[in-house]
Amino acid sequence: MQIMMPILNPDMTFYSLLAVTKRLNGIGKAEEISRTLFSNSSAALRHDFSPDLDVFCNKTGNAFGNPIEVAIKTSTLPYFLRFRPQTTHDKALGLMAGSTVEPLKFVLGLPPGPSGAFLPLSYCNECLKEDIINYGYAYWHRKHQLPTVMVCPTHSTPLNYAKLRINGRGRSGLFLPNDDEIQKYQSKQLIGSAKPILERLSTLSSMVLDQELSAPYSANSLKATYLHGLKQQGLLSVSGRVRAKDFVNRITKHYEAISNLPTFDRIVGSRFADGLLRLVRKPRVNFHTASHLIMVDFLFGDWKLFNSVYLWEQQMDLPLENGTKLQATCPSHKNLSKDLEDHLLELANRFNNKKGSLTSLAKQLNININTAMRWLGKLGLIEIPRKPKTISAKIRANVINLLKQGCPLKAVSYQTGLSSSSIDRICNEEPNLQKIWKEAHKKYKRQKEREKFLNFLTLYPSTTQSELRQSNDSGYRWLYNNDLLWLSQHLPTKRTIKRAQSLPVKPRVNWVKRDNQCLAALKVINMENLESWERIKPKAFLRRLPKLSFSPRLDKLPKSKLWVQGEIQRLNKL
Ligand SMILES: [Zn+2]
Repeated sequence: MQIMMPILNPDMTFYSLLAVTKRLNGIGKAEEISRTLFSNSSAALRHDFSPDLDVFCNKTGNAFGNPIEVAIKTSTLPYFLRFRPQTTHDKALGLMAGSTVEPLKFVLGLPPGPSGAFLPLSYCNECLKEDIINYGYAYWHRKHQLPTVMVCPTHSTPLNYAKLRINGRGRSGLFLPNDDEIQKYQSKQLIGSAKPILERLSTLSSMVLDQELSAPYSANSLKATYLHGLKQQGLLSVSGRVRAKDFVNRITKHYEAISNLPTFDRIVGSRFADGLLRLVRKPRVNFHTASHLIMVDFLFGDWKLFNSVYLWEQQMDLPLENGTKLQATCPSHKNLSKDLEDHLLELANRFNNKKGSLTSLAKQLNININTAMRWLGKLGLIEIPRKPKTISAKIRANVINLLKQGCPLKAVSYQTGLSSSSIDRICNEEPNLQKIWKEAHKKYKRQKEREKFLNFLTLYPSTTQSELRQSNDSGYRWLYNNDLLWLSQHLPTKRTIKRAQSLPVKPRVNWVKRDNQCLAALKVINMENLESWERIKPKAFLRRLPKLSFSPRLDKLPKSKLWVQGEIQRLNKL
């Protein structure tokens, strides 16, 4: 069957492309399109992420690009991958080329829930009218489907929603926003103060969908960027600690108007806001793009500013030629010496006028190239060219070797002269290396902490357990949490002398006295009233004793025991 394919319009979703194809070819059933362009009848009907893109690309002769290009151009995937490492990109794109996309949500860390055809689609009334004028039909836009977009990024109008009708087999057809068959409903009226915030976040979201980060992904650089933002906002203490309480107060207040809306409620709601600090505390954890968006908006207010700081922080991560490192925190313009400033302006001028490469110009002006690049990037005088650092096979092998031994990342960086982001990249590129390093690092750390502990004991042979607990240098706390068995075997013996002096001596038990008391009590109890379930056993005697000042144990009370045995014999004979 020959099929005519439409042109892919700006920001058009894959689902829209197929719906237009159905219309263009006068095909009645959605399943028929699916069977023609894919190898089964349902692949075409999902409207979030489509599986089998490799089959589609094959059948369409790559008219829309290869599976990866199609996935990036026609789905919301780039939005979800923007703040994720390369490994996640590869995994997600691989899934979209293959026959099942169900695990994709898991890879992206999206909450399980309605998916495929059941999720409502969003559209903007203004965009709909414009599309009909420009293209003759309306289609679903990618940016309207993002979870953090509630007003149109172009028109600022609140989005409308549409539920797709589902047939008897639970499948929807291929519909477009202007179709009568779909059930449309207006969005809820937004409260006034929410609108400007949602407008900002929508614009930011559509930028995140379309624009790459200014430098390759690095958890460390992102962390450093957010720390810089926190510092600018006065949310870091002098010692560099995050003022967590202030942060939570300010962020919940700032986003109060949207704190009940879906997606945002779990980020800026008062119960969740401190979770955002994990972006700087545990940067390697995977976060939803929405969390990054809130941080970018709150700290920088602008995608461009955030990206220039991010680029700067990544430049900071490169090792300096002369071995010294500039202060990691961003120096202000005023700190520049007049001399250096003049040189930098001259350098930027020559570079922008294409008078030579940065390296040659820096040499001419006698400025260290790394210093120059950082200042120029920070001051926004030039666009710093992105240059991946080439790593020789030998250095790479050395890094892998050190990582396999579990060396701390800082130590690997120090020994190899590579930046932590380069090491990060190597770690992510080698299959399983991350996992191997984690395991080995645990052993490495345990060894170090044990050594620390034993050294401490050698240094302070008369130390007590409570001193060990309180000291930061004893390794006690780490071992207590991670290596308790070993710790318990190596603790110094408790100071018994000290305890003997401080605790009152327990008086010795007078067993003879107890025996006499017990015997006297036994002699007055009544053994005639045995319950039906009771046997004539010592326990039956003990149960009938009045309350004594001790709990009687017959094996410690010989006279009482003898008397009970005699009584048992007597009663059994009756
Ligand atoms: Zn619009």
